[in-house]
Amino acid sequence: MSRGSRTADILVAGAGPAGMSAAARGRECGRSVLVLDDNPSAGGQIWRGGESHSSGSQSTFWFRTFGTCGADVISGARIIDGDAKRRRVIAETREDAFTVEYGKLILATGAREMFLPFPGWTTPNVMGIGGLQALVKSGLPISGKRIVVAGTGPLMLAAAAYFRKHGAVVPVIAEQADWTRLARFTLQLRRQPGKLCQAAALRFALRHSRYLVSCWAEAANGEGRLESVRLRQGAKAWDLACDYLAVGFGFKPNIELGLLMNCRINDAGIESDDVQQTSQEDIFAAGECTGIGGVDLAILEGEIAGYAAAGRADLAKGCFRKRNRARQFSASLRRAFALRRELRSLPSATSIICRCEDVVWQRLEQMQSWRAAKLHTRCGMGPCQGRVCGPILEFLLGLQPEAIRPPVFPARLESLAAASEMEESIDK
Ligand SMILES: Cc1cc2nc3c(=O)[nH]c(=O)nc-3n(C[C@H](O)[C@H](O)[C@H](O)COP(=O)(O)OP(=O)(O)OC[C@H]3O[C@@H](n4cnc5c(N)ncnc54)[C@H](O)[C@@H]3O)c2cc1C
Repeated sequence: MSRGSRTADILVAGAGPAGMSAAARGRECGRSVLVLDDNPSAGGQIWRGGESHSSGSQSTFWFRTFGTCGADVISGARIIDGDAKRRRVIAETREDAFTVEYGKLILATGAREMFLPFPGWTTPNVMGIGGLQALVKSGLPISGKRIVVAGTGPLMLAAAAYFRKHGAVVPVIAEQADWTRLARFTLQLRRQPGKLCQAAALRFALRHSRYLVSCWAEAANGEGRLESVRLRQGAKAWDLACDYLAVGFGFKPNIELGLLMNCRINDAGIESDDVQQTSQEDIFAAGECTGIGGVDLAILEGEIAGYAAAGRADLAKGCFRKRNRARQFSASLRRAFALRRELRSLPSATSIICRCEDVVWQRLEQMQSWRAAKLHTRCGMGPCQGRVCGPILEFLLGLQPEAIRPPVFPARLESLAAASEMEESIDK
């Protein structure tokens, strides 16, 4: 069944915490709100799988508020193209494609995991921390499995505790940041007693796991399946047997839709002002697509964007103080868990950098620009369109992706044809 074309006062792209709070506040101000999200249910990354898979009063509150606010929600719908001048996007579901004409657009497209290459990182059972967590949430049994968690940031503790809760053994959590940075970060947590308690509770839950600092995964060993991980801490390196290696080097904001809609981008993500308005008048951005900041900040930015998109900037102001505090916390996170230089020397000549097109490091290390890398090696030209290898080359070589072309995600030819027919009929 084709949904043809739809309209909404406010269109929200993404139903994570930021999109949910934005939609609820927009509805509260009496606007019609349509939310599109490419996952099967609302909740985004942190509350993946919906209310029944999440716990805690914050998620309960937002699922209830969002669920009863009266917004139209289409799950499993991915925005693949858009035109800021005509205030229109094209979305695709498994069955069809449709256009949405909006008054205001709120981008709440979140972030994705960042990976760094090292020998063996493409071996089966080496996974992103969030990816493995998502598989467990979808039913992957891990009881009795040995999972080494390596990378950086507090998500490692949350994920490790989750794996333990599901019966896994987590022998080691390898954090690349050093003690000095971690100590400074912990001192700053004093100002956020809630977060300090959360961190202490996680450490207690993980009291049987070794937490190693200035330590990282140097190689994943195994033929066809992971058998062990080589860890490094200073001059010391050793192999540790495991069934899974969960790695995560922080997150990268999903800015592609913002780029496509000609929104200005800054070092953190999609640029936005006090009321979360982007450089495009009718487009707002909230949550981790504007910069990595955690769930509390995402919710507050969503509320502000929702109010402001509905023309109630006066209500948005009520959230500014809390947002500023949440931003201070996210800045301290960034400082504490900045990636160390040594990680740049992890890939070997034959380490794959672009998984889609099988491009190895020795073919890329001399490249001067992202464009040259694409033209000479096809790096970034596969199905993920540089979502994985782009941030890797940015970290390893300082290369910046240059432009984005629609569709922003791989789309069916049928959808593109249907969308262009719909566009023509709307424009007539
Ligand atoms: C893999 C992963 C795991 C995480 N796990 C944890 C955790 O365990 N604990 C924790 O505290 N924090 C975790 N975080 C961080 C936490 O998810 C974020 O702080 C918070 O969810 C940010 O909310 P958001 O609404 O900005 O983005 P998200 O929650 O990422 O939501 C964005 C939504 O937009 C959708 N979307 C993106 N592009 C499009 C498009 N073109 N069309 C339609 N829909 C689109 C996405 O599918 C997603 O559902 C995790 C983050 C990631 C990336």
